[in-house]
Amino acid sequence: MESVTALIDKQALIHNIKVIKNKAKDSKVIAVIKANAYGHGAIAVANALKDKVEGFAVARIGEAMDLRRDGIKNPIFLLEGFYNDDDLPFISKYDLYTAVNTMEQVEAIERVPFSKPIHVWVQVDIGMHRLGSNDKSTIAKIKSRLEKCDKVIKPLGLLSHLSVADTPAEVEYNKTQISNFFEFAKDMQGDLCLTNSAGIFDWENSHTQWIRPGIVMYGISPFEDRTGEDLGLKPVMTLKSNLIAINKVKKGDKIGYGAYYVADKDTSIGIVSCGYGDGYPRTAPNGTPVLINGRYVKTAGHVCMDMLFVDLGENCTDKVGDEVILWGKGLPVEKISALCNTIPYELICHVMPRVDFVFG
Ligand code: PLP
Repeated sequence: MESVTALIDKQALIHNIKVIKNKAKDSKVIAVIKANAYGHGAIAVANALKDKVEGFAVARIGEAMDLRRDGIKNPIFLLEGFYNDDDLPFISKYDLYTAVNTMEQVEAIERVPFSKPIHVWVQVDIGMHRLGSNDKSTIAKIKSRLEKCDKVIKPLGLLSHLSVADTPAEVEYNKTQISNFFEFAKDMQGDLCLTNSAGIFDWENSHTQWIRPGIVMYGISPFEDRTGEDLGLKPVMTLKSNLIAINKVKKGDKIGYGAYYVADKDTSIGIVSCGYGDGYPRTAPNGTPVLINGRYVKTAGHVCMDMLFVDLGENCTDKVGDEVILWGKGLPVEKISALCNTIPYELICHVMPRVDFVFG
């Protein structure tokens, strides 16, 4: 009873993929499942989606190898590329699609022996200044060397990433980035891959042969001005636990570490078996909502490692053992992250391994 559970709703995941496909009808979907599928469980999510999407994307080679070892056969894209010569034989052996960001990486491909040719996406910088070059002549050199290299499968793909697609006010900067991408794409024969969740919903002209949704697959909005529900999505993860104690306190009593909450009336304080050691944010302020018996109840006091406090009110009828929803169905994680001054991505990625994951 006292453990924390992350319920992962497979039907919600499949529903969200349908919504995404409906938005970008002519594009193939690369489901972004890096960082353990944004905390949802990469192997389980990949198995649920392997017949529903065309490919998967991860950041690191270890993430890709885990998927292959588990029998995932879809194309797997390495969004960060590779940084050790030793990775190349694995990219070849496991048939991964790697980003190439620099001339040094081209030289490594030419130099390092590996068994069969590899799939390569040339990554260009269109305004984020993270990976890839923004210099046309550098990109032309990278392309020309890769095109001559018989260890690379042709045609080459072109990859980039939008940095402000989730910010509707950044109209001009979005337009600039998209037009920069299509400038680079002019003399490419291969497929193009540009857009993330926000671009899929707000920037139709960023849709290309491949799209890369992450957060929206999990039913969560990338935008501050709209929730996942507003976008027609269903939350995939519901994080829940139980009340493990209820304490009667008097007006003026000081609750928890640092006496951060002071009861403003005689009340009942519920103790929930979930803390920052499970991934619930320590930064949640007094008043962060949780859902108990169909009503929103507010947190009261600093979140502890294994527990948190809620103010159940004077006439509480809740009982030890009652279920507490921390986020998910009925309580969008976007609401919690906004109160914690962070983005929902961070909260879901931080769900800890000791949480029971139930996939169904
Ligand atoms: N592509 C790249 C390169 C990314 O880094 C990310 C996320 O961090 C995504 C796609 C997916 O972004 P989102 O979850 O906003 O759809």
